[in-house]
Amino acid sequence: MTKQHADVRPGRLSGKKVLITGGASGLGLACAERFAEEGADLYLADLNEPAAAAAAQQLASRFNCQVGFSAVDVTQEDSINAAVEAALRTLGRLDSCIASAGIASAGISESAVDKSVLTTPLASWQKVLDVNLTGVMLTCKAVANHVVRRGGGGTLINLASSAARVSLPGNAEYCVSKAGVVMLTQVLAMELLPHGIRVNALGPGFIETPMTAAMREDPEGRARMEGMTPMGRLGKPVEIANAALYLASEESSYTTGHTLYPNGGIFVG
Ligand code: NAP
Repeated sequence: MTKQHADVRPGRLSGKKVLITGGASGLGLACAERFAEEGADLYLADLNEPAAAAAAQQLASRFNCQVGFSAVDVTQEDSINAAVEAALRTLGRLDSCIASAGIASAGISESAVDKSVLTTPLASWQKVLDVNLTGVMLTCKAVANHVVRRGGGGTLINLASSAARVSLPGNAEYCVSKAGVVMLTQVLAMELLPHGIRVNALGPGFIETPMTAAMREDPEGRARMEGMTPMGRLGKPVEIANAALYLASEESSYTTGHTLYPNGGIFVG
């Protein structure tokens, strides 16, 4: 665990303590960088512990902030509870959480072209739902229970996807998991309203992260993603981190239960 002490730094998240699952890669890491830049202290929890350790080291020295890290498997309640406890020991409290841990598929080698609900093995379906939906629920539960115990306030931000609203043939389990995150966010927003906790989600379009690397390297895959996006280009991770920053800051004080879709116009083109 990396631990560095720093004075409260200025910024839109000055002094805020933020747990990020999936914080070692892609959108979670981009949020970590952007939030550190705006004065937050961080705890990165990720399945990939060496990557989380490297990211924590790098962020702490670059931004002179406090950054802890640990391994977590968000599908296991004991594991995410332990990560939240470790974050509290490192940071003292949590004001915010970004649930970014997620997978595009179960990694079982079916061809996406031929794949359909009719051929998806049950284990693949369950794995994607476990990580992308149950994992977000367990993360929100662990963090919100802490925040409620210490008197409420703060924000939870869940990574959904534009795939919550656009059906992607061959990816039913992903689309359904993300639609579930949108509804989970709405229900939690109502349940946590009395505790002053705002709960919102992000539904990115196609973004340049390791998750889309294989599709980006395949010219047909890239053309498909760009073709579905009226702006004609993929998004940069910082464009999602900026949206997360808005949702985590007081600038979004009147917003809860909302899913913000930074997606280059996918729904309107
Ligand atoms: P990414 O670069 O693959 O990062 C995801 C991180 O989550 C990885 O470090 C991964 O570790 C970790 N992870 C996977 N399973 C986990 C588990 N069970 N417990 C804890 N950590 C786990 O992906 P990304 O593009 O940043 O995606 C982040 C989130 O945004 C996901 O929920 C994704 O569905 C969503 N999203 C992404 C896009 C996009 O275009 N990139 C678009 C819409 C929504 P490993 O590397 O070891 O698996």
